[in-house]
Formats: sequence, C-alpha cells, structure tokens
Amino acid sequence: MDKLENQPCPFCRNKTLTLTEGEIEIPYFGKTFVFGMNCSSCKYNKSDVEAAEQKDPCRYTLETSGEEDMKIRVVKSSEASIKIPTLKMEVKPGPDSEGYVSNIEGVLDRFKKIIEEQRDLSEEEDVKKNAKNLLKKLWKIKLGDIPIKIVIEDPSGNSAIISQKAKMEKLKV
Ligand SMILES: [Zn+2]
Repeated sequence: MDKLENQPCPFCRNKTLTLTEGEIEIPYFGKTFVFGMNCSSCKYNKSDVEAAEQKDPCRYTLETSGEEDMKIRVVKSSEASIKIPTLKMEVKPGPDSEGYVSNIEGVLDRFKKIIEEQRDLSEEEDVKKNAKNLLKKLWKIKLGDIPIKIVIEDPSGNSAIISQKAKMEKLKV
C-alpha cells in the first residue's frame, strides 16, 4: 500500500488527509485497486475498490448453509447495493457508500453496526425491540444456524461474491 500523508482535505481544508492506494490480486476476480482517504481533523473517511479489468453490470446471489460460508470472500464497490431478504434489510449506494474487500462475516458485521445505531438513536420501544430481535438473528446466522440469502447488485461490475456457490447474472441497467 502506498501512503501519502499531510494532503489537503477537500472538506475541512486542513492538511491532515492521508491517501492510501494499492492493488491486490483477488483469486477468480483479478487485479483490484483499493484506495482510501482519511482525514484526522474532520474524520472524513472514504474507501473504494475497482477492478483493473472492465467488468459488466452484475448481480450475485449467495445462499449460505453453514458457518464455513462466513469466510466466503466479498468485493463490494461503493456503487453496489447489498440485500439480505432474510433480515428484510438493504444497503443502497449513496454519497457515504464505501467500497471494501471483506467476507460474508464482515458484511454481516456492517449490518450489525447499522442495527445497533438504529437501536441507540431511537427512543421508541418497538424499534428497540425489533433491533434486539435482528441482532439475535444475526448472531445465529454467523454461527451458521440460520441460512440466509445475500444479493449484491453492482451496475459498475466492480463487486463479486467469490464462491462456486454464488450465482452470477448480468444486471440489466
Ligand atoms: Zn478534513
């Protein structure tokens, strides 16, 4: 990873931005650029991934069947949406979207963070109760006790679920 420190931040204008950039080789996906921006003053944080090779808009669907599947690798670009119908949850791309290379467990942890935030920000009893149930379900999913379906759609093609169990289709944009 290359690192450039003390760069001007596009938001707070302080020279406290660190740029990171690198490339990794992901089996069955190819060479991938990974980059990040991080400002220590205003906490601006952005990361993304991009495949070196031009790819077609895609939809990946994976149905998990056990704890082993938590290790399946996931590449998610900032333009992708992730749906977990089992949890009735969806993360859509937006200005704050991040791209990352992780695995199914890492994706679930990100959903967990969203649920915890909703729980902590809400004063409503039923929202808190719903969050508690979802967190319990998430725990069981991570243990492999509840199978789930995960769908990733990416018009840029820069995302993938890397497993023979995953179904890949072309996405109509
Ligand atoms: Zn800043």
